[in-house]
Amino acid sequence: MKSGFLLYQNQELAALVEPLLAWYHANRRVLPWRENTDPYRVWISEIMLQQTRVEAVREAYVRFIAELPDVRSLARVSEERLYKLWEGLGYYSRARNLQKAARVVCEQYGGVFPSDAQTLAALPGIGEYTAGAIASIAFEKPTPAVDGNVLRVISRLCENPTDITTPSYKKEVANVLARIYPPTDRGSFTQALMELGAMVCLPGGAPLCERCPLFDLCRCGRKGTWERYPVKRARPARKVEHQTVFLLWCDGKIAVRKREGGGVLQGMWELPCVTGELTPEQVRVRLCAWGITGKPMAQKTKKHIFTHIEWIMHPYILQCPVRSPAFTWTEPDAVALPTAFKKIL
Ligand code: SF4
Repeated sequence: MKSGFLLYQNQELAALVEPLLAWYHANRRVLPWRENTDPYRVWISEIMLQQTRVEAVREAYVRFIAELPDVRSLARVSEERLYKLWEGLGYYSRARNLQKAARVVCEQYGGVFPSDAQTLAALPGIGEYTAGAIASIAFEKPTPAVDGNVLRVISRLCENPTDITTPSYKKEVANVLARIYPPTDRGSFTQALMELGAMVCLPGGAPLCERCPLFDLCRCGRKGTWERYPVKRARPARKVEHQTVFLLWCDGKIAVRKREGGGVLQGMWELPCVTGELTPEQVRVRLCAWGITGKPMAQKTKKHIFTHIEWIMHPYILQCPVRSPAFTWTEPDAVALPTAFKKIL
């Protein structure tokens, strides 16, 4: 397909830089990770912000940085403590990759972050988006960080008909943007694009075109065609999985175990659970197998959504007379329990 950007010349696109930067400096949100553009801090915040709301990240970021203020402290921290600091953010593989990358930075780069996007993108868990964000925000390089927000803004600006899930499209947007980066204040330009997408050119509803600094340059804004852009292929439906989950108490402690068997949350603490919706008789048999007696009480069904799977959880709660050795018994706050199980707690 012929590039949609041919609808919009580079020189025209370059006209967005000035108004966008002016708007950003006047309107940007005050966020804890914007106070210090040290590469370590930019990196931590960008990884936390992937698939997680800004409000959820705020507190977690402050807590994380207070305890692990630099790459060496992250490389050294125990996995258990790392998970605890990551609590509430989900997608724990991100935390594991953070630590792997921190170790590489310490071992191969003497604890100093590389400044070019290509070297950064070779570190565990750092894709092109994060590498671009770190290189431009921390090192002032002309390297765009193209996420869903930026794709939406650019697609609407140009009325680009390309499906934004096409991998080559993302690359093309990055290439076009790299050519219009300003000579200074590059980190702000990267953040301004993201901020506009998050605050003005909104997803899933009408964008605030009347407040947009790019209105005069935007094809969708002028023609009111924003509903048609960005063009995006529908996602395949999520797989639905039923889980029977047990909240077992004994003397103020709950039963937990490490999750095995691959799939979501592997290696994390979990409440004892069984795939499928068990009948009351199957629940009794399962508890017996764990050496637990008593009549559990069924609770209201809860739902939890992962990227590709949706869990429908059928919880049972039981006060146990003795602690079954099949589990670890702990105070609820002492372990990093994934959000899906916290919903039951
Ligand atoms: S004018 Fe409207 S559609 Fe265009 S970039 Fe701004 S908010 Fe988005």
